[in-house]
This record gives sequence, structure tokens and C-alpha cells, in this order.
Amino acid sequence: MAIDEIIGLLERAYGPRKWQPNRDPVDVLIQTILSQNTSDTNSDRAFASLKASFTSWEAVATAPVEHVARAIQSGGLFRLKAARIQQILKQIQQEQGHISLDSLRSLSMAEAEDYLMRLPGVGHKTANCVLLFSLGKPALPVDTHVFRVAKRLGLVDSRTSVEKAHSLLQAQIPPSQVYQFHIHLIEHGRRICHARRPGCNICILRGLCPSATH
Ligand code: SF4
Repeated sequence: MAIDEIIGLLERAYGPRKWQPNRDPVDVLIQTILSQNTSDTNSDRAFASLKASFTSWEAVATAPVEHVARAIQSGGLFRLKAARIQQILKQIQQEQGHISLDSLRSLSMAEAEDYLMRLPGVGHKTANCVLLFSLGKPALPVDTHVFRVAKRLGLVDSRTSVEKAHSLLQAQIPPSQVYQFHIHLIEHGRRICHARRPGCNICILRGLCPSATH
């Protein structure tokens, strides 16, 4: 089946990636919110600054919103994100009794995803990042690279929405391969299958790809 071949070729090209979902789920959630509509470098800087500026997530939740905005200003859309982060933290505190998402570990993947997607401004991709990177649940986040490369490879139809792509791709990838597939597709999108000029002539997937140009 093509998907197995794709997984195998990507592993040969980029090496095996070990899934170690050991990050704190609130950290991953907030870092993913900060990564929206900005570069990795800027969002990493904003997250580090946020962590350095406050002693706890409780302190972030109760600070004046402009203090939070100042701490994350390298991350783009910082006023909007500051307000959103406080809304999320307050909702978690209200529902969990403290700011932690550790109770989600005992839920099924679908239940945990439902909970996360009920938080303000949390969509499929953000929820799946938390599930995959901290809760050990094999949910596939579909970011811009994963979406573009999957469409070009014909794993989803070119008219499919990114929302729908989550479930369609998820259904094709064996759970144990989800983490590595996610990382490899991003790597392939960044290195070879660029948005504007895909490097089909040097692409290891060209024999399987319906979008390959020669
Ligand atoms: S053959 Fe071209 S379009 Fe297909 S995955 Fe490779 S670079 Fe992307």
C-alpha cells in the first residue's frame, strides 16, 4: 500500500524518530497557541519569555493582560494571544480545580480531544499537538506542511479542508507511526516539497506522487 511505502521511504531519508511524549500538556498547549501565524523562532522566543516572566501558569492567568502581551510580543498577534491564553488558563483552572491537564491522560483519545477543543480558540491541530507531544495519544496534527505534502501525494483530495484532512489522514496512518509521519512530512515539506517550487527532481517520493513534475 502506498502509505506504507511513503512511511518507509521517509524513514530511510530522514531516519527513525522516537516518540517521547513527555512534555507538560499545558506547556505544549500554550506553546502551540503562540506558534499560530508566526515562525518557530519567534514563537519559541515568546514562550521562553513568558515562562521567564511569570512564576506559574496561575500567575499568567491572573496578571494584567498587558503584562502577558508584553512577555510574548516577539510572537506576533501578541495582544490577541495574551487574551486567549488567559481565557484558556482560567477555563482549565475552573474546570480542573488547578491549571493542569494531567487528568486527560486517563481519558480516551476522542474524549481528551473533545475536552481540548472546547477550550477557547483551540482547533484540531492544537488539540492534536497536545495529545501527541504530551499525552501519548497518537493524534496527527495537520499543519501547513503536512497538509500541503499530503494533498500533493494524493493522501487527501486537493479540495479537502484542513479540518477534514485530520480524520482522513489519521485513519490511514498506523498509530505507532503517527509521530514519525508528522515529523517526517514537516521535514520533507521544509526541505524538498516547498510550497512554491517543490523539488520533484530530487524527491524520494516522486515514483509514488501523482503531483510529481519531471
Ligand atoms: S514529487 Fe514533488 S510534489 Fe510530490 S512529494 Fe515530492 S516534491 Fe512534493
